[in-house]
Amino acid sequence: KRKVAFLMSGGDSCGMNASIRAIVRVAIAKGCDAYAVYEGYQGLVTGNELIKKMEWNDVAGILSTGGTAIGTARCKEFRERSGRLKACYNLVSLGIDSLIVNGGDGSLTGADIFRSEWNGLLQELVDSGKITADLAKRHQHLSIVGMVGSIDNDMVGTEMTIGANTSLHRIVEAIDSISSTASSHQRAFIIEVMGRHCGWLALMASLATGADWLFIPEAPPAETWEEDMCDVLKKHRQLGKRKVIIVVSEGALDRNNQPIKCEKIKDVLSKKLNYDTRVTTLGHVQRGGFPTAFDRILATLQGSKAVEEVLSSSENKPSPLIAYNENKITCVPLMEAVQMTLAVAKAVEAKDFKRAFELRDPDFRA
Ligand code: ATP
Repeated sequence: KRKVAFLMSGGDSCGMNASIRAIVRVAIAKGCDAYAVYEGYQGLVTGNELIKKMEWNDVAGILSTGGTAIGTARCKEFRERSGRLKACYNLVSLGIDSLIVNGGDGSLTGADIFRSEWNGLLQELVDSGKITADLAKRHQHLSIVGMVGSIDNDMVGTEMTIGANTSLHRIVEAIDSISSTASSHQRAFIIEVMGRHCGWLALMASLATGADWLFIPEAPPAETWEEDMCDVLKKHRQLGKRKVIIVVSEGALDRNNQPIKCEKIKDVLSKKLNYDTRVTTLGHVQRGGFPTAFDRILATLQGSKAVEEVLSSSENKPSPLIAYNENKITCVPLMEAVQMTLAVAKAVEAKDFKRAFELRDPDFRA
């Protein structure tokens, strides 16, 4: 019987539970045993009660809940070979040779390193007498399948990551709530949203709420942004708009690579326009709550695909990343997607936006 383990790693996102449920139930339906690894890579390193065989009913009732029912964590030990050696031992002792990792680029890089070292780790365990040569032989290949749970939607190779749609809804709900009070009092609100180096959440939230002005990392404003922004806001007010909504992505920078701070924007509005201005940082509400139908469906279909990929994996096949492109669940090469994601972040940092957009849309995606 094939034994498939899975873990959630890095920041949590809504829909991770739907992926857990799908992996467990599809694995069972296909005649496999499914093992949940609790607390991300820490569970793999610690083993024992942190790696638990899951039954059908263990995942009942989690489809509609946010966060992750098996925890997620960052684990220093797994970054070291000694930690990965313990992880290898824990998996092999349970007869597990497949691992589905749902996380960000760091988690997926860790998974790839684990796979590339696998034979060396097995040999070390044999040499130190921890496992028999026969057991090592039966576990010669470690299948790795990646999934991306991230609210930022910043992974190259997939149009949507699990949780991004829900976070966008949370942000839009919050801006709608702010909008009504902003209109009543004729106030300006500056709203900081998450996204790290990626402006996707801020850009989409601005479109969905009709924001007046937007700051994202991928498009630093002109040197004259203070005057430009004030001119636009004045025009909007002259046309009868009572509220002002400005959305700021947390990673937004100006042309001199300085962070664009909400307080600075507030000063500009207060001093130049005399607007009654408030700053709202949405923070972790963006990560919580119930997942949208889209994220539940995406995570369910991707979880199911991840199990299928485990079952069709082979030693010579590169590890796949389960993606979503052109309304279909697809697979892209895991490490190429991770490397391109890091390259995009570097291009944005270097203000080479043309290159960043090219890299964002690689040939391998379709
Ligand atoms: P998020 O996008 O939410 O930050 P992430 O997966 O990029 O997710 P990281 O903190 O980079 O988050 O990585 C999560 C965990 O993955 C780390 O704590 C570590 O256990 C493992 N990991 C990350 N990078 C490596 C690496 N180079 N080698 C081994 N393990 C790694």
